[in-house]
Amino acid sequence: MSDEPTLIAQVVPELPTFAVDDGFSYAVPADLAGVSVGSIVRVPLGSRRVRGYVVSLREGETEGLKTVNSVSGDMPVFDAQILETLRWAALHYVAPLSVLLGRAAPPNLPRGKGRPPADPIPAAESPLPDLSAAAAAHRHARPTCLVATSPYADHVVGLAGQALASDGNVAVIVSTVDEAKALARDLATSFGDRVRYISSSIPAKDATKEWVAAERHSGLLIVGTPEIALWPLGKPSLWIVVEEGRRAMKAKQTPTLQVRDLVRRRALIERTAVAFLGPVPTLDTLAKGAATTEPPGRVWPLVELVDRREDPPGSRVIAGRTTAAIRQVHKAGGQVFVFVSRRGYAPAFRCVKCREPRRCPECGAGPDRGDRCRRCGNELGPCVECAGRRFEPLGAGLGRVVEELQRSFGTEAVGGIGSGRQVLVGTERDLPYVPGTALSVALDADSLLLAPHYRAEEDAVRILVRVCATVARGRGRRCLVQTAQPGHRALATLRSGHSLDYLTALIRERERDGLPPASELLAIEVSGDATALTDEMAALEDGDVRVHGPESGGGRTRWFLQGESLQRSRVQLRTSVQRWRDAGIKVRIDADPIDL
Ligand SMILES: [Zn+2]
Ligand SMILES: [Zn+2]
Repeated sequence: MSDEPTLIAQVVPELPTFAVDDGFSYAVPADLAGVSVGSIVRVPLGSRRVRGYVVSLREGETEGLKTVNSVSGDMPVFDAQILETLRWAALHYVAPLSVLLGRAAPPNLPRGKGRPPADPIPAAESPLPDLSAAAAAHRHARPTCLVATSPYADHVVGLAGQALASDGNVAVIVSTVDEAKALARDLATSFGDRVRYISSSIPAKDATKEWVAAERHSGLLIVGTPEIALWPLGKPSLWIVVEEGRRAMKAKQTPTLQVRDLVRRRALIERTAVAFLGPVPTLDTLAKGAATTEPPGRVWPLVELVDRREDPPGSRVIAGRTTAAIRQVHKAGGQVFVFVSRRGYAPAFRCVKCREPRRCPECGAGPDRGDRCRRCGNELGPCVECAGRRFEPLGAGLGRVVEELQRSFGTEAVGGIGSGRQVLVGTERDLPYVPGTALSVALDADSLLLAPHYRAEEDAVRILVRVCATVARGRGRRCLVQTAQPGHRALATLRSGHSLDYLTALIRERERDGLPPASELLAIEVSGDATALTDEMAALEDGDVRVHGPESGGGRTRWFLQGESLQRSRVQLRTSVQRWRDAGIKVRIDADPIDL
C-alpha cells in the first residue's frame, strides 16, 4: 500500500477550448520526480496522450484517477503568481485558459542552464531614482511614465542599473523586432553580455535558450517584443515598456493581449516596478493612476502648421509653402522625410466651396469616397458648414505623393526610407527607420484626426509626435504639419511640445461619454450568418452593461458591449462562445477594441 500515490495534479490539457478550463485530476506516480505547478506533462485524455500544464497539486485519494505519464522539459514554465496573471488574462480577454498557459512557455521545451552573465554593471544615474531604488529592493512601486522621445537607450541604462546590480532581472518591451534589436545593441555597449534579445524572429531554440537563462540567472537585461510580457523571465524586478501606445503593443489575433495591462497586472501580483517610456502616455495608463515625470523643456521639436485652407481648390497634395521648405533643404544637400498616412488609408476630404474638412453630420468622423459614414453608417449629405456638394481629397496615397515630389525635385531625388535619397517618403510602419532629417513633413493630419474611431485625436497626436521626432536635433531643423483644421486642440498640443494637460482633458471627456478608460468595451465578431445569436447577445444587457449591434458588413456580424465593468459578461460569454464554436460558428473576441 505504501507505493499507492497520494499526490494529485490538476492538469489543463493543451487544447484551445473553454471546455478544459478547469483541468482534470491525475495521480502523480511516487517515482515521478519534478512535478510542480507550471510543469509541462503528458497525460492520457480519452484514447489519446496530450500535453498539459499542471495548475495545482494536492494530497488526496488517487483511486480511480488516471496517471500522469511523464514530465517534459527540465523546469516549470510558470509559478503560482504568474498563473494568477494568466487566469486574469483568460477572463479579461475571454480566451481559454490553456491558450494563456501556452503563452508563458518558450517555443521549445525548456532544458539546460543557459548562459550566465559575466560583464560588469556600470554606475549610471537613474532618471527615476525612487522607482529604480524600489526595483533594486524588489518592491512594488507606483507605475511611472517617463516622458521622453527616442533614442531610449540612455534612459534604460539609468533606470535598469540598480536593479541589475542587486541581482534582479529587468525586462524591456519594444513594439517591433527591429527596434528591439537596435535597442539591445545600444544597451550592450553599457551592459555587455547582460543584455539578452528575444523576439518572434529569432530561431525557436535561441529564444528557448534565453527563456531558460532568464529563469536560471539574475542580473539580466532582457529586451524583447510584446510576447515576452507573459514569460516568467526570472520575475523581473523592473519592467520597462517603450511607447506603450503603439498599435503593436496589442495583439491583433485573439486573445487580443495588451502589453500594458499584462505588465501592470504582473507588477501588482509579483510586487515589482514598472516604467512606461515614451513621448505620449496612454489615457489608460494615466487614468489607472500612473505617476508622470516630464522634462522641463519641450518633449519633441518645434512644429509649424501649414494651413490648407489657404490653398485654392484643385491644389496639389503638397502645399506651396511645404514645397518651398523642401526645396530649401534639397538645395542645401539635406534630407527630408515626407509622412503619408498609412497605406490604404483614405485621405481626408474637404469642401471645395468653404475648404472645411468633410465630416459625418452624425458622429463627426471623416468619410472616405462613399456616400455613407464608415464609422456610423449615416448618410453624409452636403457639407455641414456651407451645404456645398463638391469635395476633394486633402491627402493622397503613397504613389501619388511620390509622383508629385518627383515632378518637383526629379526622379533621382525621391525614394523610400532605405533608399538614401534626399526626399524620403514613408508611412507609419517606416517611422522607426527614418534617419535624423533636416525637415519632416506630415501631409495629411486631417485623415488621422478624422479617422473613424473614438481614439482618432489621441492616436493622431501620438503618430504626429513620432513624425516630429524624426527631425534631427539642432538649429534650422523643422517639422511641418499640413492641415485644414489649424485650430484643432490636438494640433495645439502638438505645437506646445507637451501632452499631459491635453490627455487629462481627454480623460474627463471619456468619463462624460462613458468611453474607455472610463468604461470597458468588448467586441464580439462572428463570421457568416449570426441571426441565431441575436437574442442571446441581447440577453447580455444587464444593469449598466449595454449591448450595441448587430452591425453587419464584409461577411461578418459584430456586437459590442459597453459598461463600467464587463466582468460578469466576460464570464457568461465563456460559456456562450464555446457553445457557438462547438456549433461551427467562427467567433472573434476583441477585448478593449480600439477602432470603434
Ligand atoms: Zn463647405
Ligand atoms: Zn458617422
